[in-house]
Amino acid sequence: MTSEERREIENNVAQAREKIAAAAVRAGKRPEDILLVAATKMNDAERVQAAVQAGIDVCGENRVQELLGKYEEHAYDGCPLHFIGTLQSNKVKYLIGKVSMIESVSSVKLAKVIDKEARKAGIVQDILLEVNIGREEAKLGIDPDELPETLCKIAEMENLRIRGLMAIPPKPDINRENTYYFDRMYQLFIDISAKKYDNVSMDYLSMGMSADYEAAISCGANIVRLGTTLFGARRY
Ligand SMILES: *Cc1c(COP(=O)(O)O)cnc(C)c1O
Repeated sequence: MTSEERREIENNVAQAREKIAAAAVRAGKRPEDILLVAATKMNDAERVQAAVQAGIDVCGENRVQELLGKYEEHAYDGCPLHFIGTLQSNKVKYLIGKVSMIESVSSVKLAKVIDKEARKAGIVQDILLEVNIGREEAKLGIDPDELPETLCKIAEMENLRIRGLMAIPPKPDINRENTYYFDRMYQLFIDISAKKYDNVSMDYLSMGMSADYEAAISCGANIVRLGTTLFGARRY
């Protein structure tokens, strides 16, 4: 990585921070109430570490294999790590002890495996429940109608702690308000908070990416996950 690329990441993080702070204040929150997760997929350890040093709050990784490689290379040193991608049951064991949060828990079956592995390791794993708020076939996540029932089942698992909700809403379309799905997520978040389920603390609502994070914060998000805004376009 050139020093110019490093400066670019520093500038990008600083600019995102300013926008997050302004959006937070507009939403009646403090800037520090919003967690900036850097979505680090396809960026090597050096670039990830540059973002860490520039002051992101959390690294978010999508693929277990990629996470393990970069973990070995100390990409995430000095920063909490969240898993934010599709997770296969047989790979859960590699994450336990490395990630402070699994944001993408999309089924009771997956939750059971995480619970089992966390028990083996003697820890309680923080998780978010991923909601398929647009009911899109191609996306994982819990159907919004099934959320209360699924949440109750997962809340019984002793080595998991539900800390909130996560969503990747559909792309905007002309038939809906831009914030339609963010608003629906916030409503679910509020409804569940009000019910005060045992072993559930609705601390986090993770939604908003590079294209729409300020809108997401306006609608109640307190975790935003930014990739291209921080690192530039991904080179696949
Ligand atoms: C890649 C990714 C992001 C960030 O996307 P950008 O549009 O590049 O900001 C956020 N969340 C998840 C789950 C991702 O996979």
